[in-house]
Amino acid sequence: MTTRITAEIAERIARAHGCVRCGERNYKRVKVSPANLAASEEFHESWHVMLRCGVCAAESELGLDDEGDVLYAH
Ligand SMILES: [Zn+2]
Repeated sequence: MTTRITAEIAERIARAHGCVRCGERNYKRVKVSPANLAASEEFHESWHVMLRCGVCAAESELGLDDEGDVLYAH
């Protein structure tokens, strides 16, 4: 059993990550959910975060691992 970051911390990290389109950190909506099984096995993703930018309205997705490192953002 690994100790992984909580959903609350995952949200904080995601909010600190600039928007993939405009680089702003002003999110209108942030939704944190556990990574699905395929992603957790393939990338060791722990949390999957969906973001909607409050500035340009871009939808982006972030994958975070157990330690809160950002695996991908698009
Ligand atoms: Zn944006």
